[in-house]
Amino acid sequence: MSLRSIVDSHTHSIFSPDGQMSLEEGIIAAHNRGVGGLVFTDHIELAHPDIATWNTPFDIEQRSHLIDQLRQEHANNIKIFKGIELGFEPTILDRASEMINQHDLDLVILSTHCVDNIDLGEKAYYEGQSKEQAYAKYLDTIYQSVSMFNNFDVVGHIGYACRYACYPDKSLCYLDYHDKLDAILNRVIAQGKGIEVNTAGFRLNLGYPHPDYDIIKRYHELGGTIVTLGSDAHRTMGIGREFENVIKRLADIGFKYVAHFEQRKPVFVKI
Ligand SMILES: [Zn+2]
Ligand SMILES: [Zn+2]
Repeated sequence: MSLRSIVDSHTHSIFSPDGQMSLEEGIIAAHNRGVGGLVFTDHIELAHPDIATWNTPFDIEQRSHLIDQLRQEHANNIKIFKGIELGFEPTILDRASEMINQHDLDLVILSTHCVDNIDLGEKAYYEGQSKEQAYAKYLDTIYQSVSMFNNFDVVGHIGYACRYACYPDKSLCYLDYHDKLDAILNRVIAQGKGIEVNTAGFRLNLGYPHPDYDIIKRYHELGGTIVTLGSDAHRTMGIGREFENVIKRLADIGFKYVAHFEQRKPVFVKI
């Protein structure tokens, strides 16, 4: 299928500490990839344990002006949206909300990157814990995030810990954690929020998105309708990764639409 109506709702520019593409490079790459739009969701982390790297928020206003200019230059080719990926930490929520309300944003992704003050990308998180313990605590933290915070639009990459876990079988299956996952998904639906389907796992050869299809299926069964698609690209080559295949799978599950956000409101696109 053509991706011309589809928006990549999760990308990182050099406004993120780990982003490798300029805004313009991202826009040109997205257009070449054939997607109809992209959202720059640069990181806002306010209480990450690696303070020096993460906790100085980028200048949202400066990026906003640059995006306004680029929107004009590329108006005929592609839609460009303003987003952030907020790293959840219970202590920063008021500050984060204030920051979000001060700026012109289309999308806020709420992501859990750290548990017990350890980045999930660090082996230290998994060492000394069984997979069940590590994943249970990770899911409890996501539940805490969606219970304590309301100023977001979609929950980022549920299952993200699979990217970095060092267990022989890294998979986070619905059936193994069904009570915790149901609690998260029900809460998301009750809040009128959505989830994203994050395709970065394909870059790491996991062969499935975050969350995995069994969890997406459950979200649909529970009545969830708001699903965004995001590559989580930090460089140009990742934009729109696996979107055609993932859209087919979403349609098989029963979704009629994927969403993207404009001015914090979902826009539904038929698939
Ligand atoms: Zn993330
Ligand atoms: Zn991201």
